[in-house]
Amino acid sequence: MKKLISYALVFVLCASVVTLGAAYANEQQQLNEIHSKIDKSRSQLQEGKKKEKQLGDQIKKLESQINETEREIADIKRDINKTEQEIAIVKSNLEAAEQEMEEQNENLKKRLRAMYKNGDIGLVQILLGSENITDFMSNMDMVQKIYDHDVEVLKFMEEQCKKIELQKKELEALQAKLQAERQKEMDKQATLQANRGQVASLKSEVAKSNAQLEAQIDALNAEANRLIEEIRRLQGDKAYAGGKFAWPGENTYVTSEFGMRFHPILKVNKLHTGIDIRAPLGSKVMAANDGTVIKAGWNNSYGNVVMIDHGGQIVTLYAHNSKLLVKTGDVVTRGQTIAYAGSTGNSTGPHIHFEVRVNGQYQNPRNWL
Ligand SMILES: [Zn+2]
Repeated sequence: MKKLISYALVFVLCASVVTLGAAYANEQQQLNEIHSKIDKSRSQLQEGKKKEKQLGDQIKKLESQINETEREIADIKRDINKTEQEIAIVKSNLEAAEQEMEEQNENLKKRLRAMYKNGDIGLVQILLGSENITDFMSNMDMVQKIYDHDVEVLKFMEEQCKKIELQKKELEALQAKLQAERQKEMDKQATLQANRGQVASLKSEVAKSNAQLEAQIDALNAEANRLIEEIRRLQGDKAYAGGKFAWPGENTYVTSEFGMRFHPILKVNKLHTGIDIRAPLGSKVMAANDGTVIKAGWNNSYGNVVMIDHGGQIVTLYAHNSKLLVKTGDVVTRGQTIAYAGSTGNSTGPHIHFEVRVNGQYQNPRNWL
């Protein structure tokens, strides 16, 4: 009976450890997903900002086009004004010419009527009534002058008619020009309005998209914080297993120490967040201490990566593995083989990148080995 009770107790304890491990792994999994979503949203936002800059350039171009169009419209308006003045001048010239023509016509008609009434004899009688040759010559001269005047009047009227015809044509041309200029102005105004509309819609589109992304990132961060709190709560009563760590590789040769270094791939000075331990491809990668696997999967920079929670907010990480032997939620023991070494992710050759994080802060793993 006593044995049975102790079995039952062991069972209950195991069950609760498994449950805790599973719940914890679930939260951690969710947190990882949220973090990768945040990364994705951030890179989208970066893209959005880039697009905003590109659009800014496009908008600048459109705005200079708008300025250009406005200048063109001002020019056209000046042209229209000038044409309208020209039209006014031509019109008044035309009116004056027509007025003069009317008067001359009236005079000529009067004279012709008078000549007709006199039976056109008047001029001959004047000549015949001359008293002597001097008188005759003088009368002849007068008759000639009257005749010349009539001819001049007729000539003038002919020219005036031509002039009026020309001015009418000029007026028509000017009016057609005016209409063309007005049409051009209307077209330009339409272009202007279209460009302005385009600028406004591009601006609001980008602003909206970026605002959405920022809101998304805020929401994801809030969710991540909530999960971190939840993990802390679940971890709360779990203390560190204790002791120094076991070396995670089959040897202890470190090819790159913890600290600032020139990154060989990224070509920038960067914190090396762990130590690189020499490890041939396929050699054993072992848990540094007892704990629970909180991540076993792919990461673009770490490659195939395992993270183990050892309690007391202490987490170890093993990166660039060729093959993983554990899964999230597994309970592992110190020295257990959890993966085989490799060069996956951001790596130049097979090695174990080994990290120690305490309360999420990178520590020099040397201090724990
Ligand atoms: Zn490394």
